[in-house]
Amino acid sequence: MKPEAVDARVDLHTHSDHSDGTLTPTQLVELAAQRAVQLLALTDHDTTTGCASAAEACRTHGIQFLPSCELSSTWRGRELHIVGLRVAPDTPQLVEHLRSVRALRVARVQAIGERLTRCGLDGAGLIGPVLASPGTPTRLHVARALVAAGVVADVEDAFKGYLGRGQRAAVPPAWPTPEACIEVITRAGGLAVLAHPHRYKLSAGALRELCSQFREHGGAGIEVSLPGMGPADAAQAASLARRCALAGSLGSDFHEPGLPWRPLGRWLKLPDGITPITQLLGFTPAEAPQPA
Ligand code: AMP
Ligand code: MN
Ligand code: MN
Ligand code: MN
Repeated sequence: MKPEAVDARVDLHTHSDHSDGTLTPTQLVELAAQRAVQLLALTDHDTTTGCASAAEACRTHGIQFLPSCELSSTWRGRELHIVGLRVAPDTPQLVEHLRSVRALRVARVQAIGERLTRCGLDGAGLIGPVLASPGTPTRLHVARALVAAGVVADVEDAFKGYLGRGQRAAVPPAWPTPEACIEVITRAGGLAVLAHPHRYKLSAGALRELCSQFREHGGAGIEVSLPGMGPADAAQAASLARRCALAGSLGSDFHEPGLPWRPLGRWLKLPDGITPITQLLGFTPAEAPQPA
């Protein structure tokens, strides 16, 4: 499969400190500018609050910006993520959706705190600062609090021992359905993209069903190129995109500069036979500088 390279750096999946990233939107855009990113989407979990300042910084740096978000969804008892690219943040249905998901998130973190207490830990002390911060509260915040308190060595251990599916302090969430997420994204003028399909531990058959339902309900794309996708994962995502007529999206899922395996800014390289999501977004790359 020959990658189709376009002379543009595009990153359509990134996080700031408005959810579980560590950089402010402005710092994120500065890093994107250093990496010569031409098209950037800020896709914080279940919020668009960082998009105004990211847009402003992108204007300064001449980067094309897409206000976006990554919505949490539950399908057959599993958590799925759906990226909404180029949404209008003020759309009433989207605002209401994000408000209600935030309430679910607060209740979930509180329930996680109670479970941590039952594990003999200071649950209230661990989750207090998570709930006090203005951004979207996530399990990654709780994981970082467990690391800071010396309960676990690193975030990975926090998920393995406490927060991951089936672990001691896990609270299975009941997020909105994929249909509801697609609808709210579409009403906000955005394109719904199934995020990181390789991470769901679904069988090949279940993934095919998911993608065909996703398309039927108005989904526009699927992520086909992300760090951490091995060749087999990438081939499977590409085949799902072709089979279900979904456009291919890509990004870094950047959260923090300390994790070099998710570097901000990617070259747009898609396998043959896939419509780049950038085409649906009307993006045209700037001319690459000619050698002198
Ligand atoms: P939540 O949306 O509250 O369920 O939190 C999930 C977030 O935690 C994801 O967006 C990831 O950034 C992070 N995460 C999930 N699993 C892991 C893991 N095993 N190791 C590190 N981070 C994780
Ligand atoms: Mn995250
Ligand atoms: Mn995700
Ligand atoms: Mn993400």
